[in-house]
Amino acid sequence: MNKILALRLLDAADDAAVIIDAGSRIRYANDAMYALSGYAAGSLPGQQIEALLPDAVREQHGAQIGAYLAGYKKSKVLGHKRHFAIRHRDGSMLPIVLKAMDLGKLDDENFMGAFFIDQRHERAIEQQNAARWQQLQRIALTDPLTLLPNRRAFEIDAVRAAARDRRAGNPMTIGIADIDFFKKVNDRHGHAAGDAVLQAIAAVLQSQARASDVIARVGGEEFGMLFPHTDMSTAHRVAERIRLAVAATCVDFEHTPITATISIGLAPLPNNGDWKAGFMQADAALYQAKNNGRNRTEQA
Ligand code: GH3
Ligand code: MG
Ligand code: MG
Repeated sequence: MNKILALRLLDAADDAAVIIDAGSRIRYANDAMYALSGYAAGSLPGQQIEALLPDAVREQHGAQIGAYLAGYKKSKVLGHKRHFAIRHRDGSMLPIVLKAMDLGKLDDENFMGAFFIDQRHERAIEQQNAARWQQLQRIALTDPLTLLPNRRAFEIDAVRAAARDRRAGNPMTIGIADIDFFKKVNDRHGHAAGDAVLQAIAAVLQSQARASDVIARVGGEEFGMLFPHTDMSTAHRVAERIRLAVAATCVDFEHTPITATISIGLAPLPNNGDWKAGFMQADAALYQAKNNGRNRTEQA
């Protein structure tokens, strides 16, 4: 009686269960197995379990069971829980946890059983979490006004680029661009106009820089620039192109044309790879550019 009750319990279990014989033929499947696999109730006994297995394991499955039953191969599957997948009747692969076990002999025949624990919900939550994590990371590293990388992102990129160029023995140039007399823009046209100018200048910086350069908003009206594997004369040429493009840009704020210029300071990455020291030298060069009349590029 106990065995019959145990079988009823297995029939009603939430997790899919199957029993196969030594020839990989399905001899028993519970209701959850039909629900999971998409096969019609009662249709699985007599079918080969291989129909449900991923391509990568299907071909060796029979031989592996044979080797295990003959006693010359230990099983890496039986007795363990493993992440695995099964093929739904419609051909899609379903993530599961497989818990397979040797059921021993009955009437001189060998049997093996397995639970297939559906992982679709867990997988969906994992994917949702990964997407949320990526979104948070994007928010944490992006300046909301200009959509440029923010100071935090700049520092991460600077550490990475400096390490890479130092290792490779490449030159690298670091820069700071600062909008000239930006306070006057705010005073004359209002803070919203200042914001619009910031956005426009950010877009020009981004579009004039090369794909491998990094342009970030590191302060109110200050932009950090990284020119990886770039020597000073090349970086200077790029910086000048950027500066001239900004000077040529006219922002139309509520039908009022506003123009602005930037000053740029450049410095080479020091030989010891200390990008912060380079950044401070670029800041000193920027100070020179301001002192020498603004709307110009100076190098340390
Ligand atoms: P300089 O040529 O010497 O750089 O002069 P400046 O006026 O640009 O420099 P200063 O540092 O005196 O002023 C910077 C101004 O930038 C002051 C601040 O109100 C403005 N600012 C900083 N962040 C923002 C922002 O997000 N939006 C707006 N509209 N203004 C900002
Ligand atoms: Mg400033
Ligand atoms: Mg300024």
